[in-house]
Amino acid sequence: HHHVLFATAEGVEAVVDTGHFHPEAILWQRLADYRGAGGYRLLAACRDGEVSVEALIDELERSGLRGLGGAGFPTYRKWQAVRAEPGPRYAVINADEGEPGTFKDRHYLEREPHRFLEGALISAWAVEACALYIYLRDEYPGLHRVLCEAIDELVAAGLVAPDFVILRRGAGAYICGEESALIESLEGKPGKPRHRPPFVAQKGLFDRPTLVNNVETVYWIPLIHEKGADWFADQGRHGRRGLRSFSLSGRVKRPGVHLAPAGITLNELLQEYGGGMQEGHRLAGYLPGGASGGILPASKADIPLDFDTLQEAGCFIGSAAVIVLSDQDDLRAVATNLLAFFADESCGQCTPCRVGTEKMLTLLERDAWDVEQLERLSRVMMDASICGLGQAAPNPVLSLLRDFRDELAAQNLIVKG
Ligand code: SF4
Repeated sequence: HHHVLFATAEGVEAVVDTGHFHPEAILWQRLADYRGAGGYRLLAACRDGEVSVEALIDELERSGLRGLGGAGFPTYRKWQAVRAEPGPRYAVINADEGEPGTFKDRHYLEREPHRFLEGALISAWAVEACALYIYLRDEYPGLHRVLCEAIDELVAAGLVAPDFVILRRGAGAYICGEESALIESLEGKPGKPRHRPPFVAQKGLFDRPTLVNNVETVYWIPLIHEKGADWFADQGRHGRRGLRSFSLSGRVKRPGVHLAPAGITLNELLQEYGGGMQEGHRLAGYLPGGASGGILPASKADIPLDFDTLQEAGCFIGSAAVIVLSDQDDLRAVATNLLAFFADESCGQCTPCRVGTEKMLTLLERDAWDVEQLERLSRVMMDASICGLGQAAPNPVLSLLRDFRDELAAQNLIVKG
């Protein structure tokens, strides 16, 4: 059941098999098995006062755990920020996993829903939340069944009060993965990002202080406590800390979720985990962070992949969705496909993004690219868009103009000078 993204001559195309997902066919770890292996002991220790919030926060700080939905904000600081606000507070899990090429949250949810739920309940406990909301993308209908059953198991076992965990379905909008749009959607409104400040930690769900964590972020909490903060932190490479779940796809022999050291390079990831390039394909470039994180050339396949490390190259890792392109991929097709995606998914709230994505798409479809206009439009979108969608939408185009000039010139899209 891989959810794999292929870069084809027509562009980057998702092969999504969720429509054929049968939860009965997935062997997920049931409550009894998880508890038998020590599961929910940490939650009990937290509730009994054996483990204090301060101790857990200290542990998370030492582990270096950061928001794995893509923003990379230190988890312990997010918890502290919400705790500093007056109650009542809410806890929300972002399970909207919509970044093209990302399928790691699904990977963990369909195998170990209880490890995730324990982490989620601990995050709710840490901020004394009055309810825990889980916002699950609707393209994961099988997972909806799995989570419903897992939550029922918890309620039946008396581990959580009925109605404390509220599972909500998205409706297919990419923008609802943005935390303030997600909160609007939870409130029953159209998913449009809010202006900041105030931040959701101050004024989130129903205007109350709200902790929003990604699925994978909380998934790691029970393991970090069990194995120790150092166990997690020490696994980085090239001076980085922690583990990352790379969703690897494209022209590689072994696509899938690969748990690898933070800071691993693309070349290392490809050779040690991805089985190398597919036969007949030569590495041409890669998207380090899904549709939004830009495109890097093969000559930059030795940069450590992590939060903060790709800034200089004009890219970012986001949710660690790495899409590998080969010499057989058409770069213009990749760029137009991504811009068509952003134009489609723009919530339409602000002009630079609503009009800018459409405009950029038409500019990319011309026989020759007007580089100056593309750069000017990119600048406006980055500076004036309300949220990350519009700010990041020009990234694929800027990447190509920065690092792929020979290839663009060979296609007569630009004049190299
Ligand atoms: Fe909506 Fe785009 Fe503006 Fe974000 S940048 S608020 S998606 S129109």
